[in-house]
Amino acid sequence: MKLIDKLLDALSPPMIKCVICGREIDKSKHGICDKCMKEMPLNLHVCKKCGVDIRTMNVYCDTCGKNQLLFNEARSVCRFEGYAKTLVYRLKFGNHRYLADVMAHMMKKIFDGQHWLIDEITFIPISAETKRKRGYNQAKLLADSLGKLTGLPVVNLANKVRDLGPQEGKTYDERFTDMAGIFEIAAKPKPNVLIVDDVKTTGATLNEMTKVLRENGCENVYCLTFASNVRKIPME
Ligand SMILES: [Zn+2]
Ligand SMILES: [Zn+2]
Repeated sequence: MKLIDKLLDALSPPMIKCVICGREIDKSKHGICDKCMKEMPLNLHVCKKCGVDIRTMNVYCDTCGKNQLLFNEARSVCRFEGYAKTLVYRLKFGNHRYLADVMAHMMKKIFDGQHWLIDEITFIPISAETKRKRGYNQAKLLADSLGKLTGLPVVNLANKVRDLGPQEGKTYDERFTDMAGIFEIAAKPKPNVLIVDDVKTTGATLNEMTKVLRENGCENVYCLTFASNVRKIPME
C-alpha cells in the first residue's frame, strides 16, 4: 500500500455500512456484515467445467455432459438468487457503482482458489446503445476492481456490435445460436485470458466471447462471474 493510501485509510472512519442491510460494520468486512454474508447464496459444490452449483458430488453438471463449451472453465461466487440478485440488480440498474468493489472482493476469493494462469483480464462488452442508456458497463466495473485486487491488467478485447432480442422463452440451443456474430475483436488478446461478467445464465455469452478470443489467437479462456443462474432452461 502506498503511503498516501495508508494515510487516507487512517483518516477515514473505521466503521462503514453493510451494503445490504445498512448496519454499521468494520471496514475489514469489505462491505457485507456477517449476518447478510451468512444469507448469501454461496456456491457449494460446483461443476468442474461451467461452475454451476450442482449440490451433488458429481464432477460435471448434466448440461456439460452434453455440450461443448469453448472456455476452459467458469466459476462464480454464488447462485443468482436472494441477496446475490439484489446486488447484481443494484449494480446493473441502480447506478450503485461502488458495489463493484464489494462484489469483486468476493470474486477474488474464488479466483484465488483456482489454479489459472492469467495474462490479462477482460470483460463482456455492452453495446453502444446500452452504454448510452446506462452510462456504464457493470462487467467492466467488476473487471477493473478485480484487476486492482489481483494486479492483473484489464483490457477491452471486444466490442458488442448488436443487442439480442429478449432471451426469455428461448431454448438452451437457441440462446447459443442467437449469439453468433454479436462480438467483434477490439484488440489482440494475450494467450491466457480471464473474462469477467456479472451473471452467467447458460454460458452462451461467455462461449461466444471465448470463440472470438480463440479465433484471434487466445489459447486459454477462463470465466469468472459474480453469480450464475441455476434456473432450468428447456433444452429443446
Ligand atoms: Zn448486512
Ligand atoms: Zn457444467
